[in-house]
Amino acid sequence: MMEKNIEKKVLKTVSEYRLCSKKERVAVALSGGKDSSVTAYILKKFGYNIEGIHINLGMGKHSDDSQKAVEKLCSDLKINLHIFYPERETGKNMLKIFKENSGRKLNTCVMCGVVKKWILNKKTRELKFSKIATGHHMNDQLESFLMNILKGSPELNRGFYPILKTKDKKMVPRIRPLFFVEEKEIENYAKTKKLNVIREICPYRGETYRVEVREFVRTLSKKQKENLMKNAMKFNEKFIKKNEKINYCEKCGEVCRKKTCKMCELIIKDKKSNKK
Ligand code: AMP
Repeated sequence: MMEKNIEKKVLKTVSEYRLCSKKERVAVALSGGKDSSVTAYILKKFGYNIEGIHINLGMGKHSDDSQKAVEKLCSDLKINLHIFYPERETGKNMLKIFKENSGRKLNTCVMCGVVKKWILNKKTRELKFSKIATGHHMNDQLESFLMNILKGSPELNRGFYPILKTKDKKMVPRIRPLFFVEEKEIENYAKTKKLNVIREICPYRGETYRVEVREFVRTLSKKQKENLMKNAMKFNEKFIKKNEKINYCEKCGEVCRKKTCKMCELIIKDKKSNKK
C-alpha cells in the first residue's frame, strides 16, 4: 500500500510539473544512497528512458562502497552507467580541493556540491541527456528552505520547485521526482524493494547546521510539512527572475552568475583563496 502511494506521488509529480516524457533520455544522478536509487528504480519501473551517472569523489572506502552500490543497482535495473572522477575532470581530487580551500569559510559539503553540480551538468550535456534527475526529497527541500530563511536569504528559495531550468542551452534542466515524498517513505520503499544502498555517512560531512535543521524537520507532523511545502513554493514564484542574465565563466566557459564560476574559484590557486 505504502509502496503504491510513493509510486503514485512520483508519477503525479512527473506529469503535473512536466518533468520528463518517456521518450527523453534522462540521466539519474546516483550517489549509492537510498534517495537516488529509489528515483532510478521508480522511473525505470514505469518505463522512463534512464541511465545512471555517478561521481566517484575519491574519499577512500566510502567512495568505493558508493560506486559498488551504484554498479549493482544499474546492473539489476539493466541501465547504462557513466562514472566520472573529479581528479580527471579538474586535475585535483576532493581531498586536495578541501586542503587548498581550508582558509575559506566553506564547509566540505558545499565544496563537494559545487564539484558535483559542475561535473553533472557538463557531462550530461556532452552525453546529450535532456534532463538530470536527482534524489532530492521533501525533507531535503524543507531543510534548505528553512536554512535559507534562518540565514536571512529568502531569495535563495527561488529554486524551490520540482524542475529547475534556464533558457540557456549549456544548462541541463534538473528534475526532482521525489519532491513531494517524505524521507521515511523512501527508506521504507528501499527496504521493501531490497535495494542495495549504502547507509554510511560520508566521513567528511561538514554541514553541522544542516544536521540540526534536519532534526527539527523530523519533528514536524505530516500536515505541518505539507503546509510548509505549499508556502515554500510561493517563494519560487516570488523570487524567480524571468529574464535573469546568464554569464559564462571566463575560465572554463560553464554557466555562472559572476565572472568566474564557483568551481574555478575552488580549483584555481590564487592568493585570496589560499591564505594558509
Ligand atoms: P546530496 O547533495 O549529497 O544530498 O545529494 C543530492 C542528490 O545529488 C542525490 O540524491 C543524487 O541524486 C545526487 N548525488 C549526490 N552524490 C552524488 C554522486 N557522488 N554522484 C552522482 N550523483 C550524486
